[in-house]
Amino acid sequence: MNALQVSDLSFAYGAREALRQVGFALPAGQFAALLGPNGAGKSTLIALLTRLYDVQRGEIRVGGHCLQASPRAALRQLGVVFQQSTLDLDLSVEQNLRYHAALHGLSRRQGGSRIDAELARQGLAERRHERVRNLNGGHRRRVEIARALLHEPRLLLLDEPSVGLDPGSRQALGLHVRQLCSEQGISVLWTTHLLDEVQPGDALLILHQGRLVASGRADAVSQAHGGDLGSAFTRLTTSGVCS
Ligand code: ADP
Ligand code: MG
Repeated sequence: MNALQVSDLSFAYGAREALRQVGFALPAGQFAALLGPNGAGKSTLIALLTRLYDVQRGEIRVGGHCLQASPRAALRQLGVVFQQSTLDLDLSVEQNLRYHAALHGLSRRQGGSRIDAELARQGLAERRHERVRNLNGGHRRRVEIARALLHEPRLLLLDEPSVGLDPGSRQALGLHVRQLCSEQGISVLWTTHLLDEVQPGDALLILHQGRLVASGRADAVSQAHGGDLGSAFTRLTTSGVCS
C-alpha cells in the first residue's frame, strides 16, 4: 500500500489557482524530492496534506486512509516539519518535545521513552538538556524531525527543510533523512527549490505553476528532458502552463 496517494488534486486561493490536477503516489520507504521554483505550489500541497486547508477537488490518501473521509486515521500516519521553524529557542530539546508528546496523548512515561528513541535516532541523545538556541541550524531541524516522529507516523513531510542551513549541514541533513527511509522504512516528501538537493536515485516530482510537469527517478527525468537535471529543470519550468 502507498504511504501517500494524491489524485487529481486542484486548489485555488479565490480566483488564483495554486494546484492543478496534481497526482502521484509515494510507496513505503521512499524518499521523494518535490522540486519547484518559489510559488510553484509546494507549501500549498503541504497545507492540504496536513489539512490546514480543506481539499477543494481531488483526493488525498495517507497510508490508505482518505484524508477527507477519515482525517484522524490519515493524520495519525503523518508527521510534518513546516517551512518556518516552530521551536522555542529558550526551552531545552527535551522540553520542546515533551509538550508535543502530551498533545499526542502519550503518558509521561510513554512520552519519555518515545523522546529517548527519537533523540537517539536523530543522533541528539547527548543534547537533550541543552537549550535549542545553542544548537546549529541542522541540529535544530533534527529536533523538529524528532518531534514530528514522536507519534510514529509512516510518512514525514519536510517543507524546504534546508533553507538557511550552510552547505555542510544541508548535505548532512539530506543524508540523514535518506537513511531514515532506507533503514526505518519511513516515507519522506522533501520539498525544495534547490537542484543540488536531488540525487540521481531519488524519486523526483517537479512542480511548476501548480502543475506536476515531471515525475519519476531523478536520473530518468533528467535523461528524458535534456541530459542533466539543470537543463531538464530549466526546460520544464520556463514555459507557461495553459490552464
Ligand atoms: P511554494 O511553496 O512552492 O513557494 P506556495 O504554495 O507558497 O508555493 O504558493 C503557490 C501560489 O499560491 C503562489 O502563486 C502564491 O502566491 C499563492 N499563495 C500562497 N499562499 C496564498 C494565500 N494564503 N493566499 C493567496 N495566494 C496564496
Ligand atoms: Mg513554500
